[in-house]
Amino acid sequence: MTPREIEIAIIGGGPAGLSAGLYAARALRSTVLFEGGVLGGQIATTDAVENYPGFPDGINGLDLALAMQRQSERFGMETVYAAVTSLQRTEDGRFAVGTEGGGDFIARSVIYTAGAEYNKLGIPGERELTGKGVSYCATCDAAFFAGQEAVVVGGGDAAVEEALFTTRYASKVTLVHRRDELRAQKVLQARAFAEPKMAFAWNTVVDEIIGTEQVAAVTLRDVHTGETRRFDTNAAFIFIGQTPNSSLLAGFNVPLDAGGHAIVNAWMETPVPGLFIAGDVRSEAARQVVSSAGDGATAAIRADQYLTHLDG
Ligand code: NAP
Repeated sequence: MTPREIEIAIIGGGPAGLSAGLYAARALRSTVLFEGGVLGGQIATTDAVENYPGFPDGINGLDLALAMQRQSERFGMETVYAAVTSLQRTEDGRFAVGTEGGGDFIARSVIYTAGAEYNKLGIPGERELTGKGVSYCATCDAAFFAGQEAVVVGGGDAAVEEALFTTRYASKVTLVHRRDELRAQKVLQARAFAEPKMAFAWNTVVDEIIGTEQVAAVTLRDVHTGETRRFDTNAAFIFIGQTPNSSLLAGFNVPLDAGGHAIVNAWMETPVPGLFIAGDVRSEAARQVVSSAGDGATAAIRADQYLTHLDG
C-alpha cells in the first residue's frame, strides 16, 4: 500500500506529544500522533496530578491526557493507535514511519516524544501496589503521605532529591541504598545528611513490598549478612534510574547522554533537519507534565517554522 503523506508525525502520546499535536494542528499542519500503548504515558497511571497548573483540585492523569487529546483533535490532530516500529530518513529528506497495524506514513517532520520508563526493582508487590503507595515520582505523590512514613530506594540524584522533597510531607523518610555511599551530588548529600527527618539504611535492598489495599511494609535485606527484616512504611518511592525509549533513534545521528537520552537544543532540535525530540526521552528534562507539555509546544512551533522555511 502507498504510504500516507503527512506533514508532522508525533511519536508518543504523553503530555509532550499531545501538546505538540495541539500546536502542530493549530498551525494547520496535517498532524498524526502515534501511540502504541496507553494514551498519556506515565500520567495514565497517575491517580491525581496535583502540580499541573489550572487544576487547583488536581485531576486524574488519564482524564488529563484524554482532555489534552480532545483539545488537539478539535484542531485536526489525528490519533493512530499503533506502535511505531521503524523510523527512517527518506532520500528526499522526509521520514518513513512504519507502524504495527496502523499503516505506513511519510512525514515531512517528526516530533519524537516516546518518553522513558522508570526502572523497576522487579520484586513481589511492586507492580500490584503501584499507585497504592509504590510510586516513581515523589514530586507528584509525596503530598499523599503527609505525617506518614516513607521509604525511598536508590542513591542517585533523583533518589536524594525526591527523598528531600518527601520530607516536606512525611514524618520520616528512610533512604534505602544498596551500598554504603551515595552516588548523588555532594551538595544533595550534605542536605540529606543535615535533614532531621531523613534516615539511611545502608548496604540494604528491598526484597518485597507488602500490603493489600495500600503499602504497609517492605522487607529489607542486608546485602552483607543476608539478614532480612520487616520495615513498616506507608510509601515506597523508587528511583533506580530511567530507561529512555530512544531505540528508534538508533539510525540517526542524534547524540545521546550516558543514560541514552537524546541531547537536543533549547528548540528541541537535533542535528537531523526536521527531527525534533521532546519530553522525558530528551536529556536534562525536568520530567514533569508541565515541562513536557512545554517541550512539545516548543518542538511543534519549531517544526512549523522548519516546514515554512522549506516551502520558501
Ligand atoms: P542514577 O544516577 O543512575 O542512580 C540510580 C541509583 O539507583 C544508584 O544509586 C544505583 O545504585 C541505584 N540502583 C540502580 N539499580 C538498582 C537496583 N536494582 N536496586 C537498588 N538500587 C539500584 O539515576 P537517577 O538518580 O535517576 O539520575 C539519572 C540522571 O539524571 C543522572 O545523570 C542524574 O545526575 C540526573 N539527575 C539530576 C538531577 C539534578 O541535577 N538535580 C536530579 C535527578 C536526576 P549504585 O549507586 O550502587 O549504582
